[in-house]
Amino acid sequence: MTKQEIPFGRPWIDDRDRNEVLEVLRGHILTHGPVCKAFEEAFVQLMGGGHAATTSSCMAALHLASLHFELGPGDEVLVPAQTHVATAHAIELVGAKPVFIDCETVTGNIDTELLEPAVTKRTKAISLVHFAGIPADMNKIMAIAESYDLKVIEDCALAVGARWNGSHVGLLGDIGCFSFYPIKHITTGEGGMVVSRDAGTVQKIAKFRAFAVDRNFNERQVPGLYDVTGVGMNCRMSEMQAALGRSQLAKIDQILARRAANFDALRESLRGIPGTRVLCSATPQSHSSHYCLVVILEGALGQRRNEIIGRLKEAKIGTSIYYPQPVPRLSYYRERYGYSPGQFQGAETISDRSIALPVGPHLELDHMAAIAGGLKTIVKEMSA
Ligand SMILES: *Cc1c(COP(=O)(O)O)cnc(C)c1O
Repeated sequence: MTKQEIPFGRPWIDDRDRNEVLEVLRGHILTHGPVCKAFEEAFVQLMGGGHAATTSSCMAALHLASLHFELGPGDEVLVPAQTHVATAHAIELVGAKPVFIDCETVTGNIDTELLEPAVTKRTKAISLVHFAGIPADMNKIMAIAESYDLKVIEDCALAVGARWNGSHVGLLGDIGCFSFYPIKHITTGEGGMVVSRDAGTVQKIAKFRAFAVDRNFNERQVPGLYDVTGVGMNCRMSEMQAALGRSQLAKIDQILARRAANFDALRESLRGIPGTRVLCSATPQSHSSHYCLVVILEGALGQRRNEIIGRLKEAKIGTSIYYPQPVPRLSYYRERYGYSPGQFQGAETISDRSIALPVGPHLELDHMAAIAGGLKTIVKEMSA
């Protein structure tokens, strides 16, 4: 990256990461091996408890969660209107109905006040996201889940290192799903993880992830002999991917510290720009994983969001939008379930009036100053 160029996201791969992958390729075991196990164990250690199973992606992990809870036709699942489409797809894929719930615009998380009124006899689960790594209010969500006997799935794709009341996210509900896509906190190229406090849940999902075969390659007394106990898929992670993931995880403290420092510095330098505010988790319970810094443009400035992004791009400042549409406004969901403008005002505000700024470990404090300086100049010129 040249001095002036500030990409939104970039995987942080070093020689140790490369060597760990090559080490697997020097051996004979490319899947079902000890490296996936070791990566899972290291992930459990990071979380400080629970159980974990690697998967081929977070989407696969979410899909496996839906299958595990036997969600299907006739069932309803409460899903945030403001999330990655994967959260909703995992419900739709098994024939259940996603019931979209608006978000609040302090953190971008699901508005817990709207959950209870949306519960019907058909509601089976809540599938929530920790928006941009800011933990959702798990006390309120779990209280509602308990009173209506609902399963809770946490989409933790941007939330490695995020904690609620000291517990790592993913272990507060029934199942948590993580992503190791290239620009997430750590990467395996493509990859994901299912986690749970309950060992049995993770064991069952681990079978589902491999055709629902009852014993894997290493567990067979007679080679080639196995039984199948259900309908499964193949969404395993390979040993090469797990080697990269495990190596990446070894520097997670550094990654999280760098993200937090960048976030704090950027938030501080953005203070006082008229017409802007920042999504943030400022409660003692809530520890963010600082995936990115989301700026909300208020009033007239909000109408000029795309123009501002264009100007930042000219200044070589990479940005993104998390997420560019409320999920129910995407063509597929709009055509299937209908959508009227203003139906999800919180989600619309974030989709239409926010800019996600980078704070990843590929960037330093100088870059944060440059981002804030760039945005300040643009806003000033626009209001002149
Ligand atoms: C990236 C992302 C996903 C999808 O992750 P994959 O590993 O690419 O399947 C799901 N949910 C959220 C919130 C994400 O940000």
